[in-house]
Amino acid sequence: MSNRPALLTDIDTAARLLKAQKLVAFPTETVFGLGADATSAEAIEQVFVAKGRPADNPLIVHIGSLEQWDLVAESLSPLALQLLRSYSPGPLTVVVRRKKSIVDAVTGGLPTVGIRIPNHPIAQQLLLKAGLPVAAPSANRSGKPSCTTWKSVQEDFVGRIDAILAYDCQGCGLESTVVDCTGEKARVLRPGAITEQMLLDANIPMVDDHIASGHGVEPVLSPGTRYPHYQPQACVILLESEQCLHRQSHEINLKCATYAGIGPVPQSSKFLLCREFPDIDEYAKNFYEFLRTSDRLGAQYILLQLTATSGIGGALRDRQLRAASKYVTDS
Ligand code: AMP
Ligand code: MG
Repeated sequence: MSNRPALLTDIDTAARLLKAQKLVAFPTETVFGLGADATSAEAIEQVFVAKGRPADNPLIVHIGSLEQWDLVAESLSPLALQLLRSYSPGPLTVVVRRKKSIVDAVTGGLPTVGIRIPNHPIAQQLLLKAGLPVAAPSANRSGKPSCTTWKSVQEDFVGRIDAILAYDCQGCGLESTVVDCTGEKARVLRPGAITEQMLLDANIPMVDDHIASGHGVEPVLSPGTRYPHYQPQACVILLESEQCLHRQSHEINLKCATYAGIGPVPQSSKFLLCREFPDIDEYAKNFYEFLRTSDRLGAQYILLQLTATSGIGGALRDRQLRAASKYVTDS
């Protein structure tokens, strides 16, 4: 493998590489995926090595259109079909019973598999041209923030993967909502842009003990939720209110800190970097790149305004809590 991943703009070349069992990172409407042929044990082993990902954390398998579902699943229940028809292509992963041709390592030995159809023109063309089920975890070294720009992917994977499709992500900017569809009722395993409330409003049958924040999910149901996630080098401090920001500003040197939140904040010019987003959608879209930029600048602290839980806020708050080392509350 060459030292630097090849930077590609040609989708045919990227599809050829996937068919030749190489690793290709590609943009989606959520975050970058690190793609590999889900029917090739060697390619999948390389994905786990490149990411440093624990073997029991299963990979989501991506397809280009709903017609390709039988590349991945044994059968689709009416519930899984209803969800896929309603929200795909889009930031949704449904967990269903897997097909035998998907290699064991993809699902971490589980009898189930996550399927997703991304809504990004580059990802879609790539998947349709490759004609394969493509296992693609988020394209970041395990435990670090996800990547929404090709430059961030390049930083993480020098000497570790074959190629990057050099376009950026366009969309919600946070990972897909993962929904277990193996039973009669749906259960959200990881919050995303498609919220539990949206599913309830669409009369999707949901289990009663649904978990809006994604916390408390049984590790056995969604193994990935038990590992450290989204953590930059800098110490992330989550602030419940402006009052907390005021208190923190007496404790740390703001010149060594970055800040992100919605709307203007006092003392904004004192920070190493200050991002005042106009709304929660922009906060979510720029979240991971903000964490990574803070590290590039050598920040010691990253101060984050805790978000409300409406809309994509539930998913953003889930990522914030996982990234944080410290949570400052009003009380
Ligand atoms: P990532 O690849 O970083 O987006 O993480 C994928 C997430 O999907 C992890 O939290 C996994 O635990 C979850 N996931 C993937 N496949 C399954 C599955 N078959 N059953 C339950 N959760 C899954
Ligand atoms: Mg990930």
